[in-house]
Amino acid sequence: MRIERDKYNSREEVQTLKSLDPKWSSKKFSWKIKDNNGRWFDVRKKIKPILLEMTKSHCSFCDVFISSDFFHPSIEHFKPKSIFPLYAYKWENLFISCEGCTEKKGDNYSSYLLKPDHKDYDFEKYFEILVDGRLVPNSSLSDCRRAMADCTLKLYALNGRNDLVKRRKEEIKNYLLRRATSGEVISVSEEVSFRFVYLIKINHETLEFIESCCK
Ligand SMILES: [Zn+2]
Repeated sequence: MRIERDKYNSREEVQTLKSLDPKWSSKKFSWKIKDNNGRWFDVRKKIKPILLEMTKSHCSFCDVFISSDFFHPSIEHFKPKSIFPLYAYKWENLFISCEGCTEKKGDNYSSYLLKPDHKDYDFEKYFEILVDGRLVPNSSLSDCRRAMADCTLKLYALNGRNDLVKRRKEEIKNYLLRRATSGEVISVSEEVSFRFVYLIKINHETLEFIESCCK
């Protein structure tokens, strides 16, 4: 799972944003900017639908499905605008995010943070999911990549939000039970809360978990 931003680069709204290349200084931030003819271009209104389409309405960071009343989507500056003002309107710096991820990360940034549209990024390469709903760095990672996965888990508090971890656990349980009862590998639709649940390893621990759910 990786965000394929390149596919959307040719969209008219993206091209407009890139051509305007607005700069932001210390003034109050606004998503509304003026185009070359003095007309207003509302970045949020024009770009948010594209960002949502890019992730199929999932948060770019925790992957929760955000087209629901509980997870209002916002546009997240991957590099915080308070530290990197020149990136405030950069197309490559904008991601769709759930409220929780935006709030937890705040103005924090690290060069170790994984960027979900980076050519080297793939969710399954960096993370594993456990039956208790936690995400952990993939056991096959090198020390450097493990540090990047750890940094990402920490800055977005991906295991530090009880509601998020509980929701993941519930989704895993549903997936495993469906899988156990259908007897075959089932595909995960885009509308599930987290698309990575199908990555869970079927091992002794998972089977015990299914048994305990069936009791
Ligand atoms: Zn999120």
